[in-house]
Amino acid sequence: MTASPLYSGTQVSRVETPAAQGATELGVDPTEKDARGGRPRLGVFKFASCSGCQGVLLSCEDELLALADALEILYFPEASSHLQEEGPFDLALVEGSISAPEHLEQIQKIRARSKTLVTIGACATSGGIQALRNFGNLDDFVHRVYPRPEFIAALATSTAVAEHVKVDYELRGCPISKRQLLELITAILLGRRPEIRNESLCLGCKRYGYVCVTVAHGLPCLGPVTMNGCGALCPSVGRGCYGCFGPKEGANTEAMAQRMLQLGMSKDDVRNAFRFITGYAQAFREESARHE
Ligand code: SF4
Ligand code: SF4
Repeated sequence: MTASPLYSGTQVSRVETPAAQGATELGVDPTEKDARGGRPRLGVFKFASCSGCQGVLLSCEDELLALADALEILYFPEASSHLQEEGPFDLALVEGSISAPEHLEQIQKIRARSKTLVTIGACATSGGIQALRNFGNLDDFVHRVYPRPEFIAALATSTAVAEHVKVDYELRGCPISKRQLLELITAILLGRRPEIRNESLCLGCKRYGYVCVTVAHGLPCLGPVTMNGCGALCPSVGRGCYGCFGPKEGANTEAMAQRMLQLGMSKDDVRNAFRFITGYAQAFREESARHE
């Protein structure tokens, strides 16, 4: 499998497909749209997730009417019982990880029906908190949690959507940022690149003038290796970042781990800090494995 990024930010493709090789840009082709005589068609899909990221879209109170005006919403079960699952879709927003046997076929169908597919949230982009099971044994967990384990059908791992189909763009976070979601949808409608920076959380702290919790208070914080996008929410209230936006491209996780050890964290605590909400994202997964 090879990466085929369209942009250097959070654009990804971990699966090589003919579509991935030919794709060059996000956006809705105005010629196609005019020929159809309609608005770009949206589908919002859910796999293993808590629905919090779809909730961010639903909570765009001031922008919802404009979005409903600009997009034809064909499939959005959280918002409507009027569903046209067959599409086709100009834009598919996909929440949740691939976690159950039926997901494997469902995600292929969604990809085949969608021009642009965007994954939203830590579950869809890294496997989510439920990917903690990837570090253990599924049967052990199922037998401990469920009184009737024979009724449980789950894959041994919870994985990111991009492990299974070509993804055009990832929006990170648990949940995603409303600002980034609106910026991405706007960019797709206008056929331009989204202005979403590939930078560490630390730059957010500097931009907003938040005191560094590590330098000032000696608190462990994953900010230096985490993708910015939340507006440095946790440092803004004096606590360290736990990495819910996942690893920044090119993050130096080894140096981060060394600093955490210097701050007095045990090896187990360093492993667990990387192995959390986005712990199955490659850079964090590899760093946590170094502290087994
Ligand atoms: S990323 Fe977080 S908020 Fe979004 S669906 Fe997953 S658990 Fe919920
Ligand atoms: S500071 Fe870190 S953990 Fe907190 S919301 Fe932002 S990315 Fe997530």
